[in-house]
Amino acid sequence: MSAGGAVVGRLAPSPTGALHLGNARTFLLAWLSARSRGGRVLFRIEDLDHPKKKPGAASAMLDDLRWLGLDWDGAPVVQSRRLPVYRAALGRLLAAGRAYPCVCSRRDVEETQSAPHGRDPHTLAYGGRCRGRFASWEEACAALPPGRLPAWRFRAGPGLSAFDDLFLGRRTLDRAEIGDFAFARDPDGAGYLLACAVDDAAAGVTEVVRGADLVDAAHCQLQLLEALGLPAPAFCHVPLVVAEDGRRLAKRHGDTRLCALREAGVPPERVVGLLAWWSGLAPFGAELRPADLVAGFDMRRVPRAPAVLDDRARAFLGIRVPASAPRSPTLTPGHNV
Ligand code: GLU
Repeated sequence: MSAGGAVVGRLAPSPTGALHLGNARTFLLAWLSARSRGGRVLFRIEDLDHPKKKPGAASAMLDDLRWLGLDWDGAPVVQSRRLPVYRAALGRLLAAGRAYPCVCSRRDVEETQSAPHGRDPHTLAYGGRCRGRFASWEEACAALPPGRLPAWRFRAGPGLSAFDDLFLGRRTLDRAEIGDFAFARDPDGAGYLLACAVDDAAAGVTEVVRGADLVDAAHCQLQLLEALGLPAPAFCHVPLVVAEDGRRLAKRHGDTRLCALREAGVPPERVVGLLAWWSGLAPFGAELRPADLVAGFDMRRVPRAPAVLDDRARAFLGIRVPASAPRSPTLTPGHNV
């Protein structure tokens, strides 16, 4: 909570492609969480260092979310226009001895890591091979073949990283499990982990509602914020939407892009109705606007398990599974993120 006690939430999509039902579910919950407490909702376009960045995707995302009935306060913040802010934050980390350039490839890190496998690749445990190795970014660049860039790593301290997630409860992690994580692959420090943390703090964001795939990122971002002396938001990591096979939504599960549903003539109220049903907020088959869900919204009603795009949900929105897609096994009860 900020000094005035007002809730400030945000929607922060990356323009890597069209938004689908999974993104929409997360954004609806982020929006409801803030609006149901009279809070503000900010919008940020996270368009840094994305090899998959697509031209036109940012304005399409805004259109899709407006179509759904979401709104936000003020003009969207665009990260690629804020490079001096990230450069300044990086400068402070360097001055405090908390950042260094690293030339290790992902394979180098995988070969030397001791932490459990299966982590998000950007948080693989890193033992610190490049600590103190290069005097500058340029020196690290010179040690690499042309076309490859170093990464900035955070010099993590020992001990536990812990926070109270508003959805998942207490999250605790030995910092060594992540180690000196890479926070940007850019001379100015303009990468997701640093930029997102710095931007949330600069905008006075009090709560970050986002997908459960970013829990490890929260442990990294909290360390960055602490080192920068910036306030931390509350985190709320909500389950993803998956298909019956337990995997993230993909083309083989049917076209769940909001733009495709819109083009097919599906009313946005139907889409929101499905998202609300998945979230324990409405019975199956309801047709609603997001504003209809504001009164009485309670995050505790959202099921702990991922929402599942099953045949019933598909039929409701008229989504067809591509003929070539293999039938997937049904998700077993008790499956979790
Ligand atoms: N831009 C990220 C994404 O689209 C979300 C980051 C966040 O919510 O912190 O996956």
